[in-house]
Amino acid sequence: MIPERFEYEVAESIDHAVELLGSADAKLLAGGHSLLPLMRLRVARPSLLVDIGRLRELSYVREDGDAIAIGALTRHHDLAGDTTLQKRCGIVAHAAAMIGDPQVRHRGTIGGSVAHGDPAADLGTVLTALEAELVAYGKDGERRIPAADFFTGVFETALGPQDVLTEICVPALAGGWSYVKFRRRSQDWATVGVAAVQANGAARVALTNRGATPLRAAAVEEALVGGADAAAAADQAAEGTDPPNDTDGSAEYRRHLVKLLTKRALAEALE
Ligand SMILES: Cc1cc2nc3c(=O)[nH]c(=O)nc-3n(C[C@H](O)[C@H](O)[C@H](O)COP(=O)(O)OP(=O)(O)OC[C@H]3O[C@@H](n4cnc5c(N)ncnc54)[C@H](O)[C@@H]3O)c2cc1C
Repeated sequence: MIPERFEYEVAESIDHAVELLGSADAKLLAGGHSLLPLMRLRVARPSLLVDIGRLRELSYVREDGDAIAIGALTRHHDLAGDTTLQKRCGIVAHAAAMIGDPQVRHRGTIGGSVAHGDPAADLGTVLTALEAELVAYGKDGERRIPAADFFTGVFETALGPQDVLTEICVPALAGGWSYVKFRRRSQDWATVGVAAVQANGAARVALTNRGATPLRAAAVEEALVGGADAAAAADQAAEGTDPPNDTDGSAEYRRHLVKLLTKRALAEALE
């Protein structure tokens, strides 16, 4: 289908983007790989597209003490190949390499992925397990949002209509990690995904496509703290989740799958 008529402006700076977002129904355009398909289906009908794709100052990976700062416009392909991430927070590079196909990875950005708020997306789950911080810049300045508060519903986030997501901060990992994803075909979205990381002496587990937002597998984490082994803890992975029931798999199948994948992820992360 052909999108509804819209205006198009190129943002020349972050402040300019915020200013342009002040007009009714304006939307940011980054890689366009989630927004443009929605516009073609007329599910999204912005009256103005604000293109931030040329703000190259928002594309970087930088070490910042015990953290790593990632610019929101960093593309999945660049995350996957970044040596700092590979060495210090390999789970981000690893998960980015599993997104879609080469074309999607060369256009799609980490900021676009998380701002889109799709519970089937991979990076949101990884950032949830990492307890990452997301930096938003809007008309009242900058604010930092913990990943746990960022995802608020299906395609909904804590970003306001005039906010630009500028940076994502992840911790450098000293312990093991894993992201496993089951998909029907090699380049598909996750039917179920599981991120596991060891941090501050405990395991954190987060799940993809198990509800309206990326979910922490609290029952699994508690079982591990209580002394359960990885297999017994993984058996709790379906607790408190509400998986979709669709053509990729029934909710029941997904409940089975999440236990299996959690067992695998814990085996890798805790080995
Ligand atoms: C065929 C295909 C397969 C895919 N497979 C996967 C997959 O396996 N796993 C996966 O996780 N994803 C997958 N994706 C999604 C892909 O990762 C997208 O690129 C990503 O979700 C959106 O990034 P983008 O830069 O293209 O954002 P856009 O499409 O440009 O924007 C998406 C939304 O985010 C907003 N936005 C963008 N940037 C910002 C910002 N800096 N601040 C505030 N709001 C912003 C936009 O206004 C829009 O609402 C797939 C996409 C396609 C087309």
